[in-house]
Amino acid sequence: MKQLLFLFLDGVGIGPPGADNPFSRHGGSAFRVLAGDQRWCQPFEPRTSAEHLVREIDATLEVDGLPQSGTGQATLFTGVNCAKVVGRHFGPFPHSKTHGVLDDENVFRKLHDLEPAPSPSTAFANAFPPQFFDASRRRVTVTTYTCNAASVPLRDISSLRAGRALPADLTGATWRRHLNLDVPERSIEASARTLHSIAREHTFTLFEYFLTDKVGHRRIDTAPADLLTSLNTFLSSLLDTLDPAHDALFITSDHGNLEDMSHTQHTRNPVPLIVYGWAAPFFTEATSLAGVTPRIVAALRSTT
Ligand SMILES: [Zn+2]
Repeated sequence: MKQLLFLFLDGVGIGPPGADNPFSRHGGSAFRVLAGDQRWCQPFEPRTSAEHLVREIDATLEVDGLPQSGTGQATLFTGVNCAKVVGRHFGPFPHSKTHGVLDDENVFRKLHDLEPAPSPSTAFANAFPPQFFDASRRRVTVTTYTCNAASVPLRDISSLRAGRALPADLTGATWRRHLNLDVPERSIEASARTLHSIAREHTFTLFEYFLTDKVGHRRIDTAPADLLTSLNTFLSSLLDTLDPAHDALFITSDHGNLEDMSHTQHTRNPVPLIVYGWAAPFFTEATSLAGVTPRIVAALRSTT
C-alpha cells in the first residue's frame, strides 16, 4: 500500500540567507537531504526526480499584505484561494466567509469521496489536551475545523499515552510543565516512529507542527537554532523510517516567518514544497498553496 504523510510546518518560508535567517546556519543534515543537498534559503533550486521533488511555491495568493494562517491554511487544505474569498489575508483562525469552503472542499472530504470505494483512510496525528475539548475555551483552528467537517477524529490524551498520537512539541514537555498533565516523556525519535506507524496505517496522514511559527513570533522562549536542531532530529528519524516506494513525505508551509528573525511578523517569502517518495511526480505543477490539495487528491486517486 502507498501512503502520503503530510508534515505541515507553520510559518516557514524560503528567504535570503543571512544573520537573521536561522536556516542559513542551523538547518541540519536532514533539512539538507530533503532539499536536495542545499539549504532552505534563496536561491532554492528546484529538484525533480521520480521519488523527490523540491520547489518553492507562492504563499501571497495574489493578495496584498502579509499572508496569515487562517486564509493560508484554508487555501492549503481546500485548493480554493481563500485569501481571495475573504478579500484579504486573515488569521490565525478561519474566517467565517471560508467556513463553507472548508466544509465542502477540504482535503479529507475529497479523499473520503474518492471512487471506487473503499475510500482512502485518513488521520490527523496531533494529540490535543483535555483543555482543548472544553468547548467554552475552544479555539478552533483551520486544521481542527477541517477535521470536524470531515469527521476525522481528534486524538486526545489517551491516544498520546498509548503512543497513538504526537504532542505538538514532539516530546510532551509542554503538556507536563505548562498544562500539568501526566503524560510520559518521549524522545523526538520515538515521536517520529509513532508518526510513521500512524502513517503506515492510513492512506493520508496529517501532522501539524506550529512551534516554527511561534518561535518566529518570539511567543515562546526557544532559540531558533535549538528549534531547528530538534526539528532536524525529527526529520532525520522520519527519513530513516521511510521507504520511498511506499511512503511519501510531503512538507510545506502556509507563509513565511521563522526565516526572517529581524522582526516578529510573517513574511511574503515563498514557502518550500518538498515531496520525498513515490508521490513526487504528482506535484510538479503546483505553484502556490492553492495547488496542494488537488495534487494530494490526484496522487491518492492513483493508488485506489
Ligand atoms: Zn503566525
